[in-house]
Amino acid sequence: MAALQDDHDRTMAYAEVALSQIKTLRQGAVPRNYEIWYVYATGHNPELNKAINDTLAERGNLTDADLDQLHDTYLTQGRTTDRIDRIGARVANEIDDIMALLAETLGNTASFGDDLRGESQKLSLATDHDQIKAIVERLVVTTREMQQANSALEERLSTSKQEIANLQVSLDAIRAESLTDPLTGLGNRKHFDRTVQEAIRNAGASQQPLSLLMMDIDHFKSFNDTYGHLTGDQVLRLVGMTLKQSIKGQDFTARYGGEEFAVVLPNTPMRQAIIVADNIRRLVMSKELKKKSTGEILGRVTLSAGVSTLKPNDDAEALIERADACLYAAKRNGRNRVICETDPEFAGITQAAVA
Ligand code: GH3
Ligand code: MG
Ligand code: MG
Repeated sequence: MAALQDDHDRTMAYAEVALSQIKTLRQGAVPRNYEIWYVYATGHNPELNKAINDTLAERGNLTDADLDQLHDTYLTQGRTTDRIDRIGARVANEIDDIMALLAETLGNTASFGDDLRGESQKLSLATDHDQIKAIVERLVVTTREMQQANSALEERLSTSKQEIANLQVSLDAIRAESLTDPLTGLGNRKHFDRTVQEAIRNAGASQQPLSLLMMDIDHFKSFNDTYGHLTGDQVLRLVGMTLKQSIKGQDFTARYGGEEFAVVLPNTPMRQAIIVADNIRRLVMSKELKKKSTGEILGRVTLSAGVSTLKPNDDAEALIERADACLYAAKRNGRNRVICETDPEFAGITQAAVA
């Protein structure tokens, strides 16, 4: 009873902290925000707390986009882990059941062996036809019981094989989900990190060029401020779709962060990568945005892109850093453009950074 009261008091205290944070920071008291602040209050997810504290220290508040990202990164992942744990528990149960059945069947087999030996001894001593007939009848019965036990085991093993195959499919789905950005359906940051590493290894082994595009939507904050976060999300989906349409084969595209996207282009030299980036840029710009609910025309969005190509001894960080620096140069030089690392605008930035 006392433990229950403690539990009640503790959870009420967490709830109060959560609500007071929502009030102080003037956020919506929606389940997502409540969940974030409740978990924050418990202190059970130190990474979440650190991310929140860092953002608050830097900007004093959390935008809706920040809250979405915090939820996706630190809470949805937790749920994935729960689901994997549940599947692990089901596999363990399945194995326990089969082990128990196997032990039982092995016991049956041993006693069947004993029965056979016993009857065989009696058979050697049997003198008349009736005695032999009774022994054979008992043998038929025990053999039939053994057959039944074996076929029950066989059936159970086959159900279990199916169950484990189903669990495998669930695990594959969870794995795919854990690498996907839920808003755009593109790869997420984790998928991107893995893909770049792998692409660098492959490029080294095959001696083929590898290029990387980093792209960022221009003035997206003011778009969000004007038309609202939900409309902003629709635009992110549209840009995601445009990226998907623009790549092929081994190319890979991910949502790198809020309104930033990355494209990994294996077997692609700089010149070709610039063409891909510029096609994406033009395609995004060509789309007239319309608000679904009202049909209101919202104009267009543009994006800026930076292109880097793998150099000998580059690691992922170096390749990403150069594409990012090119993206920054594209922003500084007016946005809605593609800059690569051999462009004079990029050279200007690096020299300025060194000076
Ligand atoms: P710049 O041209 O320099 O890139 O300007 P910007 O306004 O795009 O860049 P800034 O980094 O100042 O703002 C990025 C904005 O992107 C902030 C936020 O409003 C928006 N954003 C980030 N993630 C999301 C998201 O998941 N959904 C929506 N709707 N907006 C997002
Ligand atoms: Mg931007
Ligand atoms: Mg940005």
